[in-house]
Order: sequence, then C-alpha cells, then structure tokens
Amino acid sequence: MKILLIEDNETLANAICKKLEQNDYSVDMFYDGEEGLYSVETSFYDLLILDLGLPSIDGIEIIKKLRALKKTIPILIISARDEIDQRILGLDTGADDYLCKPFELNEVIARVQALLRRSKYQSNLKITYNDLVYDTQNRTLMKKGEYIELTKRELAIFENLLINVDTVLSKENIVEHISTYTESIHPSSVETYVSRIRKKLGNSINLKTARGLGYILSSK
Ligand code: CA
Repeated sequence: MKILLIEDNETLANAICKKLEQNDYSVDMFYDGEEGLYSVETSFYDLLILDLGLPSIDGIEIIKKLRALKKTIPILIISARDEIDQRILGLDTGADDYLCKPFELNEVIARVQALLRRSKYQSNLKITYNDLVYDTQNRTLMKKGEYIELTKRELAIFENLLINVDTVLSKENIVEHISTYTESIHPSSVETYVSRIRKKLGNSINLKTARGLGYILSSK
C-alpha cells in the first residue's frame, strides 16, 4: 500500500512518515503543496494524507483539483483546530475523513486502515471467495449461481469477515459491525451466529475460531 503525505510541518511530517513505514506502508512525502499535487496527479497512490495550510497551493485547492480530475483516491485531512471551516469545506469538497491536530500517531494508522478498507470494499462490487460470490451492492451471496439464504445478522457478520479476510475479528468488533443493522446484541451470541454461518456455507468457507481472540475467515 502506497501513501502520499503532504504536510509542511517537517517535524510532524517526518513523524507520521516514520509511523506509517513502521506499519509497512510505503510513503512519499512532500512539504510543499505544488510538488505534492504534481506527484498525486502523475503517480498511483492508495491514499492521500493532506494538511490544509500549505505553501504554494493549499489543501482545499488540491482536493478540488483531484476531484475535478475524477481521482477517487481516499483523502484524510489533517488540520489545526482553528481551521474548522476549512475542514468542513474539505469534506464538502470531497475529502473522506479528517483528523484534528494534535493527534496520536496511532490514530493516524487507525484512520488510514479504515479508509483503505472502505475504498477496497467500495471498488470491489463483487467479492469472490472459493466458490462463493458476494455482491457488495445488492448484499447477496451466491454459490455456483444459486442464492444462499442468510439472515440479516448472519450476512452482516459474514460480510465483515469477508472484507477482513485473514484478519482476526473479536466478538466485540463483530457486534459493533452488526449493531447498525439491528438492535444491540451480546458478544456471547456471536458464537450462535457463527455456527449457523458454518452450517449454511459448509465446505465453501474456512472460518476458524482463534481461541480467546475471535474469528478469522482464512483465504487458504
Ligand atoms: Ca500547515
């Protein structure tokens, strides 16, 4: 995953860059808006982390230019607390999320991961897993051309596992994900849903229990 960082505060930029690299992202970094814009126009990046107040061209202008060029790259704004109007303008102009300075570097990583997950999910309208095909728009699951009936909760859990394939999901994470679809449920009932999913999908899935940690849908 390749990230472009445009931030004119060199100390902050270097710290973010180091943190991203520690988390296995490759990073290009510019302290200047014009140079950063040129780079994002001419190279491919999975995500842009963008300061708003920049020399030569400001962050808002960069977002406008990218969206005018129909670039769908996810954009995370990082801005000072007193730039609230700018931040709102940034989101209106087409940024995806923002972080207020000062922030913890771990928070940057968390936002980056969430944005990357979301963009991968949105660009993949259909996700194939073994002999299953999941349509992310219609929220339907098919096996060899036949629809598989899952309840709303089962589907929400399976969708979450599928988007995060090869990642352990805790029961709490699973509950959090499905709470938007239904009334709140207790983490202990996740087991029941998982066992129903296993029963319905059988050999098509490799859904393991990571003891004490949660569940993992393995791609192997
Ligand atoms: Ca700045």
